[in-house]
Amino acid sequence: MRLLLTGGAGFIGSNLARHLLSQDGYEILVVDKLTYAGQSTTLRTLEGRPGYQFLQADIADAPAMAAALARFQPDAVLNLAAESHVDRSITGPAPFIHSNLVGTYTLLDASLHYYRALNPTRQRAFRFLQVSTDEVYGDLAPGDDAFRESDPYRPSSPYSASKAGADHLVRAWHRTFGLPVLIAMGSNNYGPYQHPEKLIPTVILRAWRQEAIPIYGDGSQQRDWLYVDDHVTALERILADGHPGESYHVGGHCERANLDLARHLCRLMDEFKPRPGGHPYAELIEHVTDRPGHDRRYAMDFSRLRREFGWEPQHAMEQALRHTVQWYLENESWWASMLDPKAE
Ligand code: NAD
Repeated sequence: MRLLLTGGAGFIGSNLARHLLSQDGYEILVVDKLTYAGQSTTLRTLEGRPGYQFLQADIADAPAMAAALARFQPDAVLNLAAESHVDRSITGPAPFIHSNLVGTYTLLDASLHYYRALNPTRQRAFRFLQVSTDEVYGDLAPGDDAFRESDPYRPSSPYSASKAGADHLVRAWHRTFGLPVLIAMGSNNYGPYQHPEKLIPTVILRAWRQEAIPIYGDGSQQRDWLYVDDHVTALERILADGHPGESYHVGGHCERANLDLARHLCRLMDEFKPRPGGHPYAELIEHVTDRPGHDRRYAMDFSRLRREFGWEPQHAMEQALRHTVQWYLENESWWASMLDPKAE
């Protein structure tokens, strides 16, 4: 199967590319603009591997997308390219509109032209998989039922609004033009190769550097944490067995308040890299002014994925967090280049 995977130099995309290329039967063209969030070092373990190709390009560049599709002749397009950090979408929304909305539109349109030129057998097999997020639903109050695929979109931030808009475009390209699309909606991911600006790496790396660990507001915001390897296997199943035009939730069944999670990570750091004098890292936690429009709680009902595909997350959070902390402790050269891109 030939896959054109956008955003493959980012966190989830690179884990997905590594997972698929560890099996027989996949050829992958990673298309990535290499923004501050995507670094070639992230893909270094794939270089030279049979079946792997890389193209540096912007998904909003229509001629580049048309040429990539015509040359590579994929059986599916997986769109993970996006601006993904909520805080950046508040201080500067323009790149989010460019990559998440204009980029998704451009890729959809190029994919539709490509799809229309395929023979009927290849058309039946073709899929456009959009990787979306639980954040499009807005937030939940404590005790509310988890989000279901049928819930209305109520995004809160420029990030989630741009992702919601992208999903609407993807659905419209199915309803209006017949492009066989799938939408996978994941909850908060964690694991190796996540950019240092995101919550879990921030806590680990601030602790490592003995710096204050900022927690928004009272830290009671709840997220459903999903280990990236579980997300990746869900994406593989949705691509293989999903019904065109449908959305699928992917959750970790692991709700945690941000403050509890930060304390947990600090305890792991106490174990793996004790501070001089035996002081606990949790002393470094500092409450800072809450993010404007901060969603209180997300939770995903992923019973559809369970029922239809028998998919379950396979990683217990305690073990997966331990592995994640150890990975950051052992891969300073990777995250140091992300903190200071000039070092690349
Ligand atoms: P990331 O920020 O780590 O990676 C995004 C990648 O996209 C980077 O390599 C970047 O260079 C690339 N990119 C950005 N704009 C581009 C453009 N215009 N053209 C080509 N490449 C471009 O993000 P991530 O955490 O890996 O998220 C991947 C996808 O999954 C995103 O669509 C995100 O919305 C979605 N998602 C993420 C999470 C999460 O918790 N991280 C959860 C659910 C869904």
